[in-house]
Amino acid sequence: MIQHVPAASEIVAREEAPAASGRRWQEEMTDLVTDPAELVKLLGLDPEQLPAALRAADGFALRVPRPYLRRMRPGDPRDPLLLQVLPGAPELEPAAGFTSDPLAEAQANPVPGVVHKYRGRLLLIAAGQCAINCRYCFRREFPYSDNHLTRSQWQGALDYIRAQDELREVILSGGDPLVLNDRQLARLVEELAAVPHLDKLRLHTRLPVVAPSRVTDELVTWLTGSRLRPVLVLHCNHAREIDDEVRAALRKLRAAGVTLLNQAVLLRGVNDSVAALSALGEALFASGVLPYYLHQLDRVRGAAHFEVDDGTARDLVRGLRESLPGYLVPRLVREIPGERSKTPI
Ligand SMILES: *Cc1c(COP(=O)(O)O)cnc(C)c1O
Ligand code: SF4
Repeated sequence: MIQHVPAASEIVAREEAPAASGRRWQEEMTDLVTDPAELVKLLGLDPEQLPAALRAADGFALRVPRPYLRRMRPGDPRDPLLLQVLPGAPELEPAAGFTSDPLAEAQANPVPGVVHKYRGRLLLIAAGQCAINCRYCFRREFPYSDNHLTRSQWQGALDYIRAQDELREVILSGGDPLVLNDRQLARLVEELAAVPHLDKLRLHTRLPVVAPSRVTDELVTWLTGSRLRPVLVLHCNHAREIDDEVRAALRKLRAAGVTLLNQAVLLRGVNDSVAALSALGEALFASGVLPYYLHQLDRVRGAAHFEVDDGTARDLVRGLRESLPGYLVPRLVREIPGERSKTPI
């Protein structure tokens, strides 16, 4: 049942005049929607959803930046952007095989802040937080508090990186590394660029999508200003996540020489159709981004209702291959603990 449907202007009301570069995103990060009641009200959703939303948000908080919220369709409980962030009753139902650490990352955590599973590259958990909380996230139960790095732990992580001379690439991950400020990141990149065996710097981030004002001039400077070749792997699941502001942010990165790739998660009810996935591929390409991975969901507790079975997933990718140029067809993969790379399906 559709309740009060707010005018777009009500949702937009909190948008500030464009502030100085570097200010606005920080304000957006302190002005996230975290109260399910506010989300329900802003989007004119059925308040009957609220008790379950509150219960589910107890285990994994609601977090959504307003620029992302503004792309949702008011009054539509099936909106593909809303479904990614709205806590709900299905999360609370136990499902066999869905656990708290589906990727066994606890075992690949050699020093705090480092997840090293694959040869030649590792994840540096640069930040324990994200700008958005995605309900299907495999890190929803990740022990971030143990990975919130103190100064000496940072040094420990860097020492580990320096000692691994097979390593070519450090992947700044999280959480979302771009919740750190540009000064912190510039300093970190400087330290990484001083490690002789590294030649690439990769970011895994959703921030340019959910709060595109994060793509500041300072960010472009530290990302492209060292000897490390910059790669940014975006996380975008639906074409409607890309609006003019996101497109402009991505084009700015592209123009500065950043290789832009996208990883999406295949999600039931969000993007599990050939139409949705081709629209995503085209929208990414229009912004200078190539599809990289289409992930099968990690089987984390609370996310079972998003799962798409492998047969359906394969059919979808076959359909994509028939409707898109080959370079816009992502690789369908799953992460299997103990494997030395993502596993193609
Ligand atoms: C996904 C992942 C990577 C990167 O894998 P690529 O196939 O190079 O994109 C690196 N380390 C970990 C732990 C990962 O999960
Ligand atoms: S790690 Fe990625 S998928 Fe998980 S909550 Fe953060 S942005 Fe969303």
